[in-house]
Amino acid sequence: MTQEKPAGLPDKIRHFIDGKDVDSVGGEEFEVLNPVTNETYIMAASGQKADIDLAVAAAKRAFEEGPWPKMRPRERSRILHKVADIVESRDEQLAQFESFDSGLPITQAKGQARRAAENFRFFADLIVAQHDDTFKVPGVQINYVNRKPIGVAGLITPWNTPFMLESWKLGPALATGNTVVLKPAEFTPLSASLWGEIFREAGVPDGVFNLVGGFGESAGDSLVKHPDVPLISFTGESRTGQIIFGNSAPFLKGLSMELGGKSPAVIFDDADLDTALDATVFGVFSLNGERCTAGSRILVQRGIYDEFVERYAERTKNIVVGLPSDPKTEVGAIVHPEHYEKVMSYVEIGKSEGRLIAGGGRPEGFPEGNFVAPTAFADVAPDARIFQEEIFGPVVAITPFDTEEEALELANNTKYGLAAYIWTSDLKRAHNFAHAVEAGMVWLNSNNLRDLRTPFGGVKASGLGHEGGYRSIDFYTDQQAVHITLGTAHFPRFGAGN
Ligand code: NAD
Repeated sequence: MTQEKPAGLPDKIRHFIDGKDVDSVGGEEFEVLNPVTNETYIMAASGQKADIDLAVAAAKRAFEEGPWPKMRPRERSRILHKVADIVESRDEQLAQFESFDSGLPITQAKGQARRAAENFRFFADLIVAQHDDTFKVPGVQINYVNRKPIGVAGLITPWNTPFMLESWKLGPALATGNTVVLKPAEFTPLSASLWGEIFREAGVPDGVFNLVGGFGESAGDSLVKHPDVPLISFTGESRTGQIIFGNSAPFLKGLSMELGGKSPAVIFDDADLDTALDATVFGVFSLNGERCTAGSRILVQRGIYDEFVERYAERTKNIVVGLPSDPKTEVGAIVHPEHYEKVMSYVEIGKSEGRLIAGGGRPEGFPEGNFVAPTAFADVAPDARIFQEEIFGPVVAITPFDTEEEALELANNTKYGLAAYIWTSDLKRAHNFAHAVEAGMVWLNSNNLRDLRTPFGGVKASGLGHEGGYRSIDFYTDQQAVHITLGTAHFPRFGAGN
């Protein structure tokens, strides 16, 4: 089973430092695999400390000597809108790169390019509308906030929807006048290789955007430990977040962390069952299940449990698994053989922890590559590993409950707290449950639909801090308080002898 390489592939994926595409100083490279065949289809420069040092030096120079941080918001905004225009105009190529490299179905990769452009537009508009506080103490003081960019921001991103998630950090970091070093995920470096050209074409000055590819343990680690990088915005696994938190501690860096999840979708027996079914199938199997906010634990009230499980099984079995490039495909190939092994190991664990109602291994007709049949387990106990641990693939655990109290206990019974989806037609119950559930984001009678103004992030092991809207602006800026005395200053005169 093969699919054609997308048109316009570079000969190699390189770093982008100070406006130029460059190899690693020491020439290090790594192999990038096609998830459909697991054959190497391109080589990528593998960043080491020396490469991070060069990128940070360029970003520091651009911050201290270049025009970017001093530009009027409108000027930066115009450039960032141009970035969005270019991203949109390359929608087709981006989608093809993303789909080929990550195994995402092509139809879903297309949505990612549009969302990436929107992330730039949103923050480009926000900084023009940005205003800061002034406080008056009548006759005594006027105090105001002098907001300023912080410096070189280190951005570390994962492989699921990589281009879109990179834009989620690049948009606000650049809009606020910082310069950046991006370290994209090693499993999916292809789409990120387009950024350099996009920024150059849009008129972003050299050194403002830098990218160093490679592994977390080398490139990522060097970025986190670089003393000239005061901010790290990280999205990835909770375990990696803990390591980065520890490594940042000696430098007291500003940290924003968007981490793992095991989000509950809670369906009460008064819910609109047809819509809840559509949403919970899409909520866990879209993006190949490689989705931080996937509703991967479905909790269903006893009265509708049997019917729900039966219908869910039927729908799951009908999901179209196929080549990522095929527009009919609903679930493509898992990103990388390492991750495929992890997902498959949970499929096996699940067989002794729950009742297999759909999938359970490789889909028929896919003897090679990282294909997993959409898999659902029913009757899963809360202490099961497939209930507690993030699988990050097309695998779901379904568990019954009797009362609202029991549903809440089950929903909160994991270390994670990213998202929650509640399905009920009882208004009071919906809000009370939403307020009590331990999740950074809640959707009532809806799938994950984002409003970029709202806070995005998790509680417990799912994250640290929130980004989104003005919270992103706050993370990427310092708010200096400037105090002006209006009247006569009154304070004790030490040493004046009275
Ligand atoms: P990961 O933690 O393995 O890697 C993420 C990034 O961190 C990669 O670029 C990697 O190279 C880098 N990295 C790894 N070790 C590092 C180290 N010691 N120092 C510095 N950088 C290091 O995560 P992943 O497997 O790429 O992504 C999947 C995870 O991301 C899942 O847990 C998922 O839930 C989470 N995620 C969360 C959100 C969110 O918004 N909360 C969004 C998407 C993905």
